[in-house]
Amino acid sequence: MKIHPLNCFSFHLGVPGITRCLLIDTGEGLILVEAGVGLQDFLQPNLRFRIFFAANRGNRNPEQAAIRQVIRLGYKPEQVQHIVLTHMHLDHAGGMGDFPWARVHIYRPEHKVATGQHKTRVLDYGYEPRHWAHGPDWALHEAQDEPWCGWPCARVVELAGTQVLLVPLEGHTPGHCGVAISTPEGWLLHAGDAYVRDMQIDPLEPRSAFPRFARGFEHLIFPEQGRHRLQQLLKSCSGQVQVTCAHDPHSTAVQQLA
Ligand SMILES: [Zn+2]
Repeated sequence: MKIHPLNCFSFHLGVPGITRCLLIDTGEGLILVEAGVGLQDFLQPNLRFRIFFAANRGNRNPEQAAIRQVIRLGYKPEQVQHIVLTHMHLDHAGGMGDFPWARVHIYRPEHKVATGQHKTRVLDYGYEPRHWAHGPDWALHEAQDEPWCGWPCARVVELAGTQVLLVPLEGHTPGHCGVAISTPEGWLLHAGDAYVRDMQIDPLEPRSAFPRFARGFEHLIFPEQGRHRLQQLLKSCSGQVQVTCAHDPHSTAVQQLA
């Protein structure tokens, strides 16, 4: 198997950021972890996306859409059989409409908040219903399978010996999960938006990725709950898991994939 890290949206919020997707070539089909910003979002942004691009100083480059990168890597888009999402915010779920045949795996509580009418938090407005207007082939999961590293999980896909799991890491959204992938070298966990810079989960000296004046923003958007859970999980897995996230352009775990 091979994992191709993809950057499906570059932006600049004081410091550069990316939206990281992982394209897994299992040898018997492709699995896309996170879908990034979609092709139509780049080409025909609606009002929500125009505001989003302006607020993030985002690079509106359609070549960053996952589907364009899949093709550049020499694959056919139809080979993407499964999409697994950490959560359904607009910068993570947009590309799923470019693969309408794919089975989309999501934690049931996340699907409920994203597609429901009941919005109570600021971040509940970070979803774009256009992304599922095509009627995806949803696979809604609950964390009730055999535990992983002693942690609750949902075992969502197994293709050619590669396993992909959803591991609840609530905080950023009520149904936010990490996506664990089995590799020949051990497990790789895409922790989505549970954290945004490696320094936040440093095992010896975790520190904030935000300047002091922006800590309120950090608590609101990336609450500590998700990072605490992640740190506990990494401790109980005692070094068997490499971890990356969605928005850190310099993730050590991903550099090791290259
Ligand atoms: Zn995000």
